[in-house]
Amino acid sequence: MKKTISIIGSGFSSLSAACYLAKAGFDVSVFEKNSEFGGRARQFKEKGFTFDMGPSWYWMPDVFEKFFNDFDKKSSDFYNLKKLNPAYHVYFGNDDYIAIPDELEKILDVFEKEEEGSSIELLKFINMAKENYKIAVTDMLYKMPGNSPLELISLDTIKRIGHFFTNIKKQVHKRFKNPKLRSILEFPVLFLGAESSNTPAFYNFMNYADFGLGTWQPNNGFYDVVKAMISIGESLGVKYYNKSNVSQIITKNNSAIGIMVNDKIINSKYILSGADYNHTEKLLQKSERQYSKEYWSSKTLAPSSLLFYLGFNKKLKNLTHHNLFFDTDFNLHSKEIYKDPKWPSKPLFYANFTSMTNSHTAPEGCENGFILIPIAPGLEDTEDLREKYFDIVIDRIEKITNQEIRSNIIYKKSFCVNDFINEYNSYKGNAYGLANTLLQTSFLRPKLKSSKVNNLFFTGQLTVPGPGVPPSIVSGELVADLINKSNP
Ligand SMILES: Cc1cc2nc3c(=O)[nH]c(=O)nc-3n(C[C@H](O)[C@H](O)[C@H](O)COP(=O)(O)OP(=O)(O)OC[C@H]3O[C@@H](n4cnc5c(N)ncnc54)[C@H](O)[C@@H]3O)c2cc1C
Repeated sequence: MKKTISIIGSGFSSLSAACYLAKAGFDVSVFEKNSEFGGRARQFKEKGFTFDMGPSWYWMPDVFEKFFNDFDKKSSDFYNLKKLNPAYHVYFGNDDYIAIPDELEKILDVFEKEEEGSSIELLKFINMAKENYKIAVTDMLYKMPGNSPLELISLDTIKRIGHFFTNIKKQVHKRFKNPKLRSILEFPVLFLGAESSNTPAFYNFMNYADFGLGTWQPNNGFYDVVKAMISIGESLGVKYYNKSNVSQIITKNNSAIGIMVNDKIINSKYILSGADYNHTEKLLQKSERQYSKEYWSSKTLAPSSLLFYLGFNKKLKNLTHHNLFFDTDFNLHSKEIYKDPKWPSKPLFYANFTSMTNSHTAPEGCENGFILIPIAPGLEDTEDLREKYFDIVIDRIEKITNQEIRSNIIYKKSFCVNDFINEYNSYKGNAYGLANTLLQTSFLRPKLKSSKVNNLFFTGQLTVPGPGVPPSIVSGELVADLINKSNP
């Protein structure tokens, strides 16, 4: 008889684990509380506009490809990918922006124009980042379930030990003087959920992901990836249930034996949760939880976000698919997220216009967009505050890109801390899980396997390896391997 496993949540880590477990011969059922699958990567359509609700930067295409190859598929069996050129714009003031092209050679030229001699430094920096990418992503990531510090030790990492004791910010500031170039090179670590001054220099492999591997876009947005993974799972017999809220993990003699789904008991041999870690432990008795309230409150969470999904009744100009508005003080905003949590005085923000690449995601002659302001998790969230920041960002976009857009908004929906909590059971309304700082790396992160309850496992952005879609996909593979090898 097949071993049964119930998976809580349908984010990327759960979808990935479901496929690997089904391939290994498990009888897999996925239970998602929301109507749509995909977790933070859900998609919705309104008034002819299509919106991806979460991830939009398709980086590290090799990680996606490896997933598909493991099932004898390619991403192109499911969706078309386009490399974006420009990859993105970074705005520093009125009519003042840098467009990052799609190839390193061209990026070197852009840097040289801003700071003499910087192209030589950039090439050296990206070559180092490329080596770190090979060590971290290609060689180590898939072999690091976070069980022991020994996983981090190899001849290559010993040679680079210095990279763990200095940080990205210092590394960038030593090489580049121009503040614009510095902020562009510090930006990729935001995906790890932490400040550049609190992120080991070894993580500069994210700069290779940015400048070396490029920014890609699936034809129908990120949701194409969700659909592709579900389609692989279905072909392997995985059953997916939406509107299925899990309210309890049922245990007997220190072993998980089932879950309560919409007031019905579902028994299975194993339970895996891809829901936020802190929430999952609340589904257990207090004595069965591994991490205390104090543990969670001492952790550095990745930011939450204030998001606006917008439909415009015209095409917008002077913007591209991905736009970073870095026209205010990077350090101040960072401080107001991590050190002195409060609503930002002068927010940096990100604006995405998918329909500039995939025109079918908006009605003809229209544009869809979403705006993201990173904020500290756990902040007070009210309609008035959302509106205040909406006005700030729309004013800034209008001024910086020299066009009127406010009166052209025909659809608007906001999403913030309270929605992250209500819709995803997110701890303090975090958007991207637990930050990847030096003290929250690998074996120092919450574990994939419960130390208190047999047969209970965890996956996703709050555990190993960390935040972001590629790490979540890897997390699913790592935990599936652990479950497959376990014989509790
Ligand atoms: C706004 C935003 C922008 C982002 N941008 C990017 C980007 O550009 N590129 C990138 O790589 N990453 C990005 N990320 C991060 C990335 O989306 C996440 O790291 C990743 O999707 C997390 O996947 P996960 O498997 O941890 O689970 P999640 O996506 O968090 O899914 C967990 C699921 O569990 C469900 N659940 C919770 N409790 C229960 C319960 N009791 N019963 C049943 N189901 C339950 C939730 O509803 C949810 O569907 C972004 C995230 C956000 C929010």
